[in-house]
Order: sequence, then C-alpha cells, then structure tokens
Amino acid sequence: MSPFRNLAEWIRLYPEMEPVIKMSPVFWFNSRLKSMETDLSLPLRRMDMERGRDFLEKYASYIAEVFPSTRPLGGHIQSPLREINRFKFFENEKHGAQIEGRMFLKCDSDLAVAGSIKARGGFFEVLQFAHKLAVKGGFIKDEEAAKFSLPELMKLFSKYTIGVGSTGNLGLSIGIISAKLGFKVNVYMSNDAKEWKKNLLRDAGANVIEEEGDFGVAITKGRNETLSNPYGYFVDDENSSKLFLGYSLAGFEIQQQLDELGIKIDKEHPLFVYSPCGVGGSPGGVMFGLKNIFGDSVHCFFAEPTHSPAVLTGLITGKREKVSVHDFGIDNITEADGLAVGRPSAFASSIIDKLVSGIYTVEDEVLFRLLKDLFETENIFVEPSATAGMIGPGLIQKSGYFSKHNINPLNVTHIAWATGGSLVPENLRVSFLKG
Ligand SMILES: *Cc1c(COP(=O)(O)O)cnc(C)c1O
Repeated sequence: MSPFRNLAEWIRLYPEMEPVIKMSPVFWFNSRLKSMETDLSLPLRRMDMERGRDFLEKYASYIAEVFPSTRPLGGHIQSPLREINRFKFFENEKHGAQIEGRMFLKCDSDLAVAGSIKARGGFFEVLQFAHKLAVKGGFIKDEEAAKFSLPELMKLFSKYTIGVGSTGNLGLSIGIISAKLGFKVNVYMSNDAKEWKKNLLRDAGANVIEEEGDFGVAITKGRNETLSNPYGYFVDDENSSKLFLGYSLAGFEIQQQLDELGIKIDKEHPLFVYSPCGVGGSPGGVMFGLKNIFGDSVHCFFAEPTHSPAVLTGLITGKREKVSVHDFGIDNITEADGLAVGRPSAFASSIIDKLVSGIYTVEDEVLFRLLKDLFETENIFVEPSATAGMIGPGLIQKSGYFSKHNINPLNVTHIAWATGGSLVPENLRVSFLKG
C-alpha cells in the first residue's frame, strides 16, 4: 500500500499514472525539461567530467596491466558505435517503424572486463576510492598516479571492505575491479540476480550475499552492513555521484566517434539517444555527459520495463526516490534483470528531472523480440535489458515529436544504447534466441 495515498487518489492527482499503474506501455514527455542554456544549478559540472577523464587517463596503464583484454584500447574501457542499417530496415519493413535518420548502436554490451555499462561507473568509483586511500596513506600526491599493484598498497586495501547492492551487473563491475585491487568485496544480490552472474563473481574473488528480496532489500541490507564497518565503503547505486560521473564520461567517447564518422550535431541535425533505465544512474550519467557536450541538440529518452517504471513513477509524481513502484501495486517483476528496480536513484533523479526529454515503457516480450531481431539482422548479441532502447526511434517517429519540435526526421542521428551482454553464457544465449 502507498504510504501517502491510495491508488485512486494518485490517479486523480496525476492522470498520467493510470496506464503506468496498469502496466500498459506508455510514452511520457517531460514538461519540466530545461534548456542547457539556463542556470540549472546541477550538482556536477563539465569541469568534473574533464577531471574525471584525466583521472581515468592516469590509471589507463594500470588497467591495461591487470586486464589484458583492455590493451587494444590502451587500458580505456570504451565500446564501438555501430551503424545498424539492416536492423533499421527490418524494423521498418516488419514492424512499420518508419525510422528515417541514421541509426547506431552503442555497444556497451562489449565493454571490456565487466561486459556492461556498469564498467564505466563502477571502475571509476572504486579507482577513485583506491586513489584516495593511497593519497591518505602518504604513498602519492593527489595529482600523481599510484602503483596499485605495489604489495604495500594491496596490503592497505585488504583492510577495507567494499560493499554493493546489485541485481547483477553492477555487482560484477564492482566485484571484479575491487577484488583485483586487493579489497575485500561483498556483493548483496537481489533475488532476481542470475546464477551465472553470481558464479562469475565468486570466480573473481568476491563474496556473494544472496538476499531473499528485490533490489531495494539487497541495497538496504548492503548499505547497513557495510557502513557499520569502520573499514567499509559502500558503492551506493541509489545515491552515488561518483558512479554517475563515471557514466558521464561516455559523452566524450560519443563526441569522438561522431567526429570520426563526420557527423556534425547541431540544432538542425540533432542527436537522439535511447537508454535502458534502472535506477537512472547509467542513463542519467550518459545523458549528463552528452548534454554538456551537445547542449540542447541532444534529445535523451529512457526506456523502462512496464513492470519496473521506477524513474517514470518518481518523475510523474514528483516524489522521485520517495516512492517505489510497489507503492502503486506494480510488481517489479521482469526478465530484464538490469532494469528490475523499484525505486530511482535520489542523486540521478534530481538531474534527470531537468534533462530527460521523455521516458517510455516496454513489455518483456518486446525486449526478447528486439534481442532476436538484432541478432538475426546484425549478428550482435545483447542481454534482454540492453534492448529496451532499440524500439525508441520507431516510437519517436510516430509520436509527433519531430513535427512539434520542427525537426526533419531525415537529419536525425539515433543512438540506441546497448547496455550489456558479452558475458552471457552460451547456453543462455541459445535459449534467449529461441525465445
Ligand atoms: C544497470 C543496467 C542498466 C540501467 O542502469 P541504471 O543505472 O540502473 O539506471 C541498463 N542495462 C543494463 C544491462 C544494466 O546492467
């Protein structure tokens, strides 16, 4: 039951909640969207992104040293941007999508080491914590880079326990980097976390703590236990500005990739980005990065499962992290485990509220259809959560958004963010593709 109101009252106050509560697919447009030209008083700035980029640059040689798969990119955790013409034509022909501009897939499904977008935020936050300890311990000055593989440093790190609550992918990212640095690491996993993700984590040296409840239960337990330890550090997916900043650095990457493709983004040639959304941290961070680079010429949309519209319910009601989908009788049950969260991130919501152009919801069946269609047309495999953005260009085309905003659809560059998948084991891939 809602702690505030009954359902009828919610619907009376916010009519847009009615189809959301019924778990029907919706497309909601944000009337609170602000221009980047106005004073947004956001808690992060472009300067923080530049510092973040320099920080990762400083530790690229360490990453290359300990994770050989990152060596081709010099220790940078980056992913390809691929044009998916065959998928686009298929969507148009078979599903009447009418997509007119160019369509790309941002393949974070292929990010090195952790196989999902969580590698961006997770590695960034844990490396920052390790760096801080090295500075505090007198090993280096703040502007220097520590040699994290020094036995003295690893001994120092081994006194600390990193905690994280996860439905799977964030745990993998934090677990792998933390264990590599020599930290103890406890991953509190929700009941929807997949067995193979837990096994990978144990192999990496992390301690997997299995919770009976959903993500909300796992994260609360993890936070309480970790923070009661004086040597504990909790990576808090519901509040973290560090994770958010780590995700935002993808903006620089897109800028460079579009430059290389000779695609110029401006008001008449806008960029449309569609991101699968759980607590809002990764799509919010990516959006923050892109908005700081492309300003109002980038239009960002998030996609959530019809059964887990955490950020959407927070934004429509204006209650953000104060409400969970459970307050509306929505069950938070979806096969898209990366998106199976009931409550949005407090930190991310405050920024998303001003920058996101809209949010749509997708049924699980559609996610599986997109997974198959992408594989059959482009031979690219992604996990169910990672497909949610791919239906965005078709939905936008039909929504009337282009004519309302005076945009020529032929001039639009669409990017669907594919957020995870390369670590999915073969037997599961086969069963997903059979559907
Ligand atoms: C975590 C995750 C997301 C969503 O990120 P949030 O920060 O929770 O919004 C999307 N796709 C995949 C595959 C994920 O693991």
